Amino acid sequence: MTSEHLTHWIAGRPWTGTSERRGDVYDPATGKVTHQVDYADRAVVDLAVGAALEAFQDWRHASVARRTSVLFAFRELLHARRDELAAVIVAEHGKVHSDALGEVARGLEVVEYACGIPQLSKGGFTEQASTGIDVYSLRQPLGPVAVISPFNFPAMVPMWFFPIAIALGNTVVLKPSEKDPSAANFLAALWSEAGLPDGVFNVVHGDKPAVDRLLEHPDVKSVSFVGSTPIARYVYETGTRHGKRVQALGGAKNHMLVLPDADLDLAADAAVNAGFGAAGERCMAVSVLVAVDPVGDGLVERIRERMAGLTVGPGCAPASEMGPLVTGVHRDKVAAYLDAGVADGATLAVDGRTHPLTGAEADGFWLGPTLFDHVKPGMSVYDDEIFGPVLSVVRVSSYDEGLALINANPYGNGTALFTNDGGAARRFQHEVEVGMVGINVPIPVPVAYYSFGGWKSSLFGDAHAYGEDGVRFFTRGKAVTQRWLDPSHGGINLGFPTNS
Ligand code: NAD
Repeated sequence: MTSEHLTHWIAGRPWTGTSERRGDVYDPATGKVTHQVDYADRAVVDLAVGAALEAFQDWRHASVARRTSVLFAFRELLHARRDELAAVIVAEHGKVHSDALGEVARGLEVVEYACGIPQLSKGGFTEQASTGIDVYSLRQPLGPVAVISPFNFPAMVPMWFFPIAIALGNTVVLKPSEKDPSAANFLAALWSEAGLPDGVFNVVHGDKPAVDRLLEHPDVKSVSFVGSTPIARYVYETGTRHGKRVQALGGAKNHMLVLPDADLDLAADAAVNAGFGAAGERCMAVSVLVAVDPVGDGLVERIRERMAGLTVGPGCAPASEMGPLVTGVHRDKVAAYLDAGVADGATLAVDGRTHPLTGAEADGFWLGPTLFDHVKPGMSVYDDEIFGPVLSVVRVSSYDEGLALINANPYGNGTALFTNDGGAARRFQHEVEVGMVGINVPIPVPVAYYSFGGWKSSLFGDAHAYGEDGVRFFTRGKAVTQRWLDPSHGGINLGFPTNS
């Protein structure tokens, strides 16, 4: 363990106080503690919110031109230093470097979207709404807003929210995951360099006490949360009880439905990429493959062949396609599902515990890619969000049976259909009860000018991360990303999909 530790970022600089509580931060590839992070108590959160409130008095009056110029400067710095940020992510999260770069690219996309805030924040005007009376609408900033983010995208998920919040004249307190906290401080330092006034962007580290204080603090006007469903529900209920606007994005169990007419090689590539990229630690990971008869055997065989060729190793090694899991506790939890699946009667087609690791230290938090076949609802491998490199194959006899399975699932984050039939694709988009839909795209993360967000237990509150989701309140946003077959798009690439 090094003696260095990471602390909060408040009013444009690192906090200089002494924390009563700290947590260990690990390098998942070695299993070793690399440093510690301070955990905020109530007083530290109050200090950060106080700094955000003070900064709001000026920032809310900064001209749109001034705010936009800081956004553009931040964009340039982030773009120039994206490789360094990716390395910071790899060192604490464990994902492979190319995947971390993909996450930064998707965050940058939202920063670029926010650079267009002069257009995005325009109000409306009705001349002569009544005789001699004109009516218009303004969009005004709220004040200090909180962002509470998960471990799996330590840069991208905070960037879903804070570029837009800041561009609109709000000030921010970010509470990142305590498991990989350093990316938040890296971003804070970039904001300072970009010329953002002190106090507009603050970071408090920690766990439940820090979150609870943000949820009840009278000066925090809104909360954007991303994490697991039980905590999302808790954050939504607690935050709204305290009168805040809350958008709380939760967990997922994403199904990929493969119809008999689909290109099975493309579908197998997609299942491997989306099932095992970032070791399955993505809210948009495919964790259930629903094979419509008779394609099950052919798909399982193709997936098994591809899995054998995957290189699992440290995220910093260029050859690695999949890294370790984030912590030892999480690895053990995921590994326990392998025994549970077998006990429940599923077929363990590929056992991740036997996968060869390349250049990996035994003490790291390793588990190779795992494939279950003949999985059924009621088995824990089907019912639970495992959040690891475990892909389950469910066999169904028809499109209708597959659709019913997806719609019966309590989660509704992402889903994908693989087919060559345009009619089936169109039907699926209309019928499936999921917020983000891919047609021949396994991880249908929409571009930043469409809204990211799930349905059912995957999202509480009506707002959606970034983008415009059209008419709020009386409709549910659904983003569809589609690609008709082009063999050149096939192949194994476990990286996070970017829009190059
Ligand atoms: P998590 O719910 O454990 O933690 C998320 C945040 O909540 C962290 O900042 C954490 O410190 C805080 N937190 C944890 N326990 C808390 C408690 N009891 N009270 C108050 N705050 C608490 O989630 P995670 O393990 O960091 O991230 C993985 C989860 O996030 C998965 O379920 C994944 O599906 C989900 N996720 C969802 C999306 C989405 O867009 N829907 C995106 C990314 C991740």
